Amino acid sequence: MKTAIQPQPGILDIALYQGGTSKIIGRDDAVKLSSNENPFGAGDMARQAYLRAGHDLHRYPSTDHGPLRAAIAARYGLDAGRIICGAGSDEVISFLCQAYAGPGDEVLYSQHGFLMYRISALAAGATPVAAPERDRTTNVDALLAACTKRTKLVFIANPNNPTGTMIPISELERLAKKLPAQALLVLDGAYAEYAEGYDGGAALVDQRQNVVMTRTFSKLFGLGGLRVGWGYGPQHVIDVLGRVRGPFNLSTTQQDVAEAALADEAHISRSLAENARMRTWLADRLNAIGVATDPSYANFVLARFKDPAQANACNTALLAGGLIVRKVDSYGLPECLRITIGDESACRRVLHVITQFMEQQA
Ligand SMILES: *Cc1c(COP(=O)(O)O)cnc(C)c1O
Repeated sequence: MKTAIQPQPGILDIALYQGGTSKIIGRDDAVKLSSNENPFGAGDMARQAYLRAGHDLHRYPSTDHGPLRAAIAARYGLDAGRIICGAGSDEVISFLCQAYAGPGDEVLYSQHGFLMYRISALAAGATPVAAPERDRTTNVDALLAACTKRTKLVFIANPNNPTGTMIPISELERLAKKLPAQALLVLDGAYAEYAEGYDGGAALVDQRQNVVMTRTFSKLFGLGGLRVGWGYGPQHVIDVLGRVRGPFNLSTTQQDVAEAALADEAHISRSLAENARMRTWLADRLNAIGVATDPSYANFVLARFKDPAQANACNTALLAGGLIVRKVDSYGLPECLRITIGDESACRRVLHVITQFMEQQA
């Protein structure tokens, strides 16, 4: 198309994000295991808050998210004044790129890192840079080696999506200490709750001036459709992000439902326990039939096949069985399929189809 009207440099390099497929035409028993959603949905307390929110739809929402930030701070033992809320953690990621990176700056992440880092970096006009991983795991030395004087942001998802692997706090700390002075480390904790005993990097944020943590209500809390996430950082960063955030970026419904979800202990503990139980179950059985997985600290497993052709064929077999998982070619892992841990019945169906598939391959 010939036109003098052109977007900012970088925008046309953005490949559109493809969400997980959610339907199979002609099947009503399909199970979606492609977006790491909570198989039990939202909890009862969140659903009730959602219904109550209907009474206030004519009111503008709180601009400072005070009650939600206070509830997050209380649950995780944080300083409410250093929390910022966004329409999903995606929005917080985009605030970070908008505020700290522009043309000529580099945004660094690891090889199989979350696609939004690259998208948000390009949207801000910055240059995305990927550092290699070792065995599908974040490699701190490779990240440090990739830093330059133009590196402004370093994104790490821990545990990472789509690999499910994670690195210990000691490694995060080593990275934070050795980064160039102008670089801000972002610890994406979308799956932090699933990693037992891990605080998402919150303590590291409290100790340092160059670390930010992002979190979400989309995974454990089962609210992916609501769009609420948050960030926790040093005061100087939160003050900056607050300037680029729109005053009404979260509706009253979003704020109230997220707050209610934080208090739903029954739903939280059931979701965590079932995920841990079925994750071990599925990984062990996949390994036993010759499908490798890395230890996963999240709510999915990355199943590894012989080659991309075998992964594709298995994906076709799963679709024929009414099971939608995630192809991860766009993450540089064409020999893998990412499978969200569903409820027990979904996990049994997955194992059944893959078992039959592997028998045919033998
Ligand atoms: C799912 C996910 C998020 C969460 O995104 P939201 O915008 O909060 O829904 C963030 N980071 C990673 C790595 C994810 O997989």
